[in-house]
Formats: sequence, C-alpha cells, structure tokens
Amino acid sequence: MFENLRVGVQLTESCDLACQHCSTNSSPKVTTKLDRGYLKAVLEQVKEIDPLAEVGFTGGEVFYVRDLLYYAIGLVRDLGLAYSVTTNGTWSVDSTERQQVLHSILDVRKLGISADVYHATAVPRRAIGRALQEARELGIDAVIRYTYTEGEEFEEILKELGLGTDDERMRVHFSGVMRVGRATKLKPGVFPMFPEREPCLAASTLMIRSTGGIFGCCGESMYVRGPHDLRFGHVKNTPLKDAVDARSNSRVLQTIRTIGARQLAVQSGVIRDDPDDEVLARSPCGSCHLLLQEENKSKVNAAAERIRDQVDTLRALYYGEV
Ligand code: SF4
Repeated sequence: MFENLRVGVQLTESCDLACQHCSTNSSPKVTTKLDRGYLKAVLEQVKEIDPLAEVGFTGGEVFYVRDLLYYAIGLVRDLGLAYSVTTNGTWSVDSTERQQVLHSILDVRKLGISADVYHATAVPRRAIGRALQEARELGIDAVIRYTYTEGEEFEEILKELGLGTDDERMRVHFSGVMRVGRATKLKPGVFPMFPEREPCLAASTLMIRSTGGIFGCCGESMYVRGPHDLRFGHVKNTPLKDAVDARSNSRVLQTIRTIGARQLAVQSGVIRDDPDDEVLARSPCGSCHLLLQEENKSKVNAAAERIRDQVDTLRALYYGEV
C-alpha cells in the first residue's frame, strides 16, 4: 500500500459546507486555493521522484473548486500519475449531478466520501450511500469515511446509509471525531477514545497544504503554528525530493507512523493532568497537537530517540522499510 510515493494535495480550504467538527476550519468564507503554478511544479517533481506515485486531491471541498480540480486531474492524466479524490459528497444529493461527477472521474484510483452526523445536516447519509453504490456499479473503487461520535451504533449508521451487502459494509471506514480545528468547540462527551497503540497511516502521505506549505500528514500538523517536526518547508523554495528525504529521516514522524501519536505523547510525558489535554489525548491528531508544540519539542525528540530500535523494527515489519 505504501510502496510508492504518496503525495496529498489540498487544492483549497474553501468548502460549500461549514461542519461543526471540521479539522480544516473550512467554510464558504474561506478562500484559500493552491496556486496553479505551485500545483504544476509539485506534480512534475512527483513524477520525477516516482513515476508510480499516487496523488490524493483533498480540501476543504474539491468539487467546490471544480475548475481547479479538473485542471489538476488533467495534469496528473498528462503525467500518467494515479490519483485519488476525497470529497464531502454534496454533489450526491441530486441524481443527475451524482452521475455527472462519477462519470468525470472513472479513472480515479480511490474515491473517498466523507459522512457523519455533522455533514448529514446538509447531505443526507442515504445520498452518500447511493453515491457509493453507483460508484461501485461504474467500477470505481469508492469508500465512505465515516467520522463517528461517542455512542453512535455502527449498525444504525449502515442502515442510515442504506448499505447492506458485504462489499458495501466493508467499504465504510469508521474513525472517531477528534478535538482539532472547529471541533474544539464541541462538548467533550462526543469524542471517543482511540486505541492506545495505532500506527497513523495518514503520516505515510506527504502533504501539500493549499498555502504551499509541505507537511508530514494531512491532519493537525498542517495547523500547528510555527516550526515543528512535521513541517518540511514550502513548495516555493523546498525541492520536493528534500522534503521526502526529511520526512524519511524524521524520528518523530516515523514513530507516529509505527507506534502512533497517542503512545508517543504518553512516552514523552506531554499530556498534562487537565481536562483539555485529557480530551485531546483521546485521539491521534489531538495527541499530535500536544506533541508538536514548540515547548514540547525536546521531550518528544528524546522519547522518539529512546524507542528508535522498536520503531525501526516496526517500520521494517509494517512498511518493509529498512
Ligand atoms: S495523528 Fe498526527 S501524524 Fe497522524 S494525521 Fe493526525 S496530526 Fe497527522
């Protein structure tokens, strides 16, 4: 899965929705879009580094900036690169638009459609279920990324989505809501506890933020201010190859990719005995929010160094990287 280079490109932080739990603080009021020159330069470098690389387009909402999305897809098609798309599925509400969108990306490697109680205020979950079913009928490798809150029942969610076959059920990927971004305003009770030790797979994708910043993942690392261990430069002056190498040599990132952010936060001793940290530390991205604070840098790097051998063993085991 991670044999080839994976680069995520956040085309915009703008969105047609403004969900209460949004980790990127997106809304129609936000206007940030990735510069087309930066985009072209990044994709050409990706092709140079690994012709078999995969590029993931995400937002905000990519279909809210459709011109830029189709420009980007045109570039990857010309370069012969595989691409994936992550979307909130607002286009799935209208059956004609649903078919138009799906037919416009028949060659997509993976289509990820977000769903949860917050999106459902604008996009009925049954519409998302239909989008998955129609995508499957067209042979598109589609999944639903469902962000659940504490207390939600998975069987109830599958009913709401209107999904029943084994293939459909296994294409709903559940992950809990995390206290980052706009979700910091939500009540503490909605945030579930994540597994203590869980490798962060998102940290296997180098991320280009819509501002041009280069980060070690598509999560909270893009929004922690100042220099930190998962910030790897900017597309205007950092060759992508250098960012790829820096990411590979980052002890902190490789530790998060293997034993997980929560475990590293525990081992670094950065979780203070207070209610806010307790809620943050329930999730990987919340833990990263603590890990990446300037004042915690030396503790975190010392902990990552202490468990270096364990991490390298897991890296070889999970990713075949020696
Ligand atoms: S847990 Fe950390 S590395 Fe993983 S997506 Fe969240 S912020 Fe990024």
